Amino acid sequence: MADLTLYDPFEKMQFSDEHCFLCGTTITKDQRTPVFGEWLQEKYKLAQKELLLLDKSVTTFGNLTIPCCDHCHLHHVLPLEQEIAQAAEQGFEGLQAVPEQRLFQWIGKMYYGTLVTELIKEVDPLIRSEYPVSEDPKMQGKFRYFFMVLQSLRVPMEFSDFLPCSLFLLKIDPKEDELPFEYQDELTTMAFSIKLGSVAVVCTLLDNGYIGRALGKLYRLTEGKALHPIQLAEFKARAFYAAYIFNVIPEYFIRPTKAEDSCLVIDTIVDDVTNEIFNPWEMTAYAHMLEEMLKPWSIREEEILKNPREPLTFLLDEQRSFKVIQEYSK
Ligand SMILES: [Zn+2]
Repeated sequence: MADLTLYDPFEKMQFSDEHCFLCGTTITKDQRTPVFGEWLQEKYKLAQKELLLLDKSVTTFGNLTIPCCDHCHLHHVLPLEQEIAQAAEQGFEGLQAVPEQRLFQWIGKMYYGTLVTELIKEVDPLIRSEYPVSEDPKMQGKFRYFFMVLQSLRVPMEFSDFLPCSLFLLKIDPKEDELPFEYQDELTTMAFSIKLGSVAVVCTLLDNGYIGRALGKLYRLTEGKALHPIQLAEFKARAFYAAYIFNVIPEYFIRPTKAEDSCLVIDTIVDDVTNEIFNPWEMTAYAHMLEEMLKPWSIREEEILKNPREPLTFLLDEQRSFKVIQEYSK
C-alpha cells in the first residue's frame, strides 16, 4: 500500500538544513540535492555561473543545493532529472512529449529550491531579511498550496481536471542566438522561464492554466515557428506581466482516501466571485516589464509606448498575425 501522507513544512516553518525538503525526514547536513540538475550544469557549463538570490547575495548554479534525503534524491529527484535530460536531447519535440505534470514538477523543483534557500535563511535568527517572504501571510498561503501540489513528485497524485500551472514551449531560432542558457524566476509572482539551446520553457506556476488561456491565441501563433530571441523576450514579458496581475490563489483539496487507494486525487477551487481573476492591465506597468526583458537590445520605455494604445511588439504584425523577424541585432 502506498504511503499517501503529505508533508507540510509550513505548519512549523520547518526550514533547515536538517530536514529533507520533500519529505521532511531528519538528515545530516551533507545530504543535499542540486537545485539545477547535474546534467544541466554540465551541458551548459553552469557550475561556476553566478546566480543572484533574492537577498541580493550571489551564489553559483553549482553551489545551489537543498537538503534532500537519500531516498528522495535517488527515487524522486534523479529519475525526474534523467527523464528531462533525455527529452531535452531531442530538443523541442522531446520536451513537448514530456507529460505536463512532469514538466511542472521539474520547474517546480527549481523554483521551490530557490524559495527554500530563501526560507532557510529567513528562519535563521542570525540573518535578518529586509522583506521576509515567510512573514507575509498571503505569500505563505500561496507557497503552502504550491508545495502541496509539488509533492506529486513524491506522492502519487492526480489533478482532477486542471494543471496547477500554465506551460509554454517555444522554439528559438538558433541562428540568432547568442545565449544557449537563460534562466529567470520571480519568487512572488511565481513566473519562471528557462532556455535550453533552441527551446524555451516559460511557466506561470499556481495559476491553474488561466494565464495559458489568456495568452492562448498568441501562443498558438508561435506554433511551428522559430522565434527570434527578441520575440521570446516579448513573450516572457507578457507571461510575467500576466502573472503579476493574476489576482487569485487557487485552493487545493485532497479527496477523502480509502485504504486501498494508490493515488491522491486533488480538486481545486478558484474564487472568481469575490475576486477578479486578473487586476486591470496597465500599459505603463507592462511597458516597464517589456523594457526589462528587452534590456539586451537597449529598447527604452518611450519607444515601447510611442503609440500608447499599441505598444511595441515583435510578435504581431499589423494584421495581428505572427511577425517574421529577419534580423534585429543588438
Ligand atoms: Zn526525503
